[in-house]
Amino acid sequence: MAASELKVLHEIDQPRQQDLDKCVHCGLCLNSCPTYRVLGLEMDSPRGRIYQMVQVHDGAAISPSYLEHLDLCLACRGCESACPSGVHYGRLIEDARAEIERKVERPFLTRMIRGFVFGNLLSSRLLLQLAARGLWAYRSLGLRSLASAIGIFKAFPKLAELDQLSPEAEFPSFFEAYGKVFPAEGVKRFKVAMLGGCVANVSFARLNEATVRVLQKNGCEVHVPDTQTCCGALHQHAGIRTKARELARRNIDALLTGGFDAIITNSAGCGSTLKEYGELLEHEPAYAARAAQFAARVKDINEFLASIELNPAMGRLDMTVTYQDSCHLAHGQKVKAAPRKLLRAVPGLQFREMPMADLCCGSAGIYNVIQNEMSMQILERKMDFANSASTQVIATANTGCMIQLRAGVKRHGHGQRVAHVIEILDEAYNKTTR
Ligand code: SF4
Ligand code: SF4
Repeated sequence: MAASELKVLHEIDQPRQQDLDKCVHCGLCLNSCPTYRVLGLEMDSPRGRIYQMVQVHDGAAISPSYLEHLDLCLACRGCESACPSGVHYGRLIEDARAEIERKVERPFLTRMIRGFVFGNLLSSRLLLQLAARGLWAYRSLGLRSLASAIGIFKAFPKLAELDQLSPEAEFPSFFEAYGKVFPAEGVKRFKVAMLGGCVANVSFARLNEATVRVLQKNGCEVHVPDTQTCCGALHQHAGIRTKARELARRNIDALLTGGFDAIITNSAGCGSTLKEYGELLEHEPAYAARAAQFAARVKDINEFLASIELNPAMGRLDMTVTYQDSCHLAHGQKVKAAPRKLLRAVPGLQFREMPMADLCCGSAGIYNVIQNEMSMQILERKMDFANSASTQVIATANTGCMIQLRAGVKRHGHGQRVAHVIEILDEAYNKTTR
């Protein structure tokens, strides 16, 4: 890349003056910030973090304290929805993390692990399948029980927490639809492309299959292009922009052609990043226009289904359900009504709102692993809200939230089932065909 192009990218890989200037320090966002609600500290509030970004922008050094307060941010963007001044906090935190990534040398081991996970693992279906087989062996061949029996989890409680938070491997059958086309049921109304995700291929394969079926039931011919890859959301959130841009280019090449009416994802975190490809590649002449076209075509599955005439041929599901907003759907994509509309369309289903449904559950990508203590405190408060709705099911729209809420139910719940909205729709459609 030419030096001038690199300079342009570096200038956007740091908080932008116009974004920082928008904050008028009113504090109206504080109550929407999960870390501020737990700690009550200004420096761990949106306003405090923006203040620290301004200091660094004005020439202060990137200090360990700056890293600590920014690392503790979930990038949930609850503050962005609450802000009356239109502060684009999501972009600020991602730009700040990209700047940190560029300027701060991390310890050797951290660099190695990050290099492998972000550089290789997430974008390789083969490596993810190998990792999932290892996880499955650990859980199914008695290693987990052995670790528990000999007291490893008691001696190292953090390991027990991480064990609860790691995704299940849906072995032996992963999501194996790549390169396939699934015909619409009945009259074909739409031609759509579906993104399978990265970890979702091995840990939420059944959810991906349910997504294909629900789309078929709604007159969609579903294509799952083989050359698609990880969306780059986790890279973006960690400030690893070079790789995020590479993955964005690969997905644009794989999915933009083909005349799709929509590019569908069932993961709110992925959808939010996919819709921002235009911004991510705005300074790349070969991709800028295509990235904007791609972003305009991306739809979260809830958003898509709520925007079309929904096939009403569903069987009855007599269950009580509450809904936890996924941050990157509610705050990142401003989609709140759609999942509720879909749930209410299921015959027999009783929907009950929980208080503060759009407050983050503490999942936030891999935040629950690397900031486990804070994540668990946030989760405990979230479960108080979820429990107060007294439902059998907690529905959500993001795979990371599902893992976190399942851990929440184990620790603080009353046996609720955690399900994706699309899994519930799929069950309702299946009831009509049995
Ligand atoms: S993104 Fe979430 S955690 Fe971070 S400052 Fe905003 S509300 Fe707080
Ligand atoms: S981010 Fe928005 S709501 Fe929060 S202090 Fe700044 S202007 Fe006020």
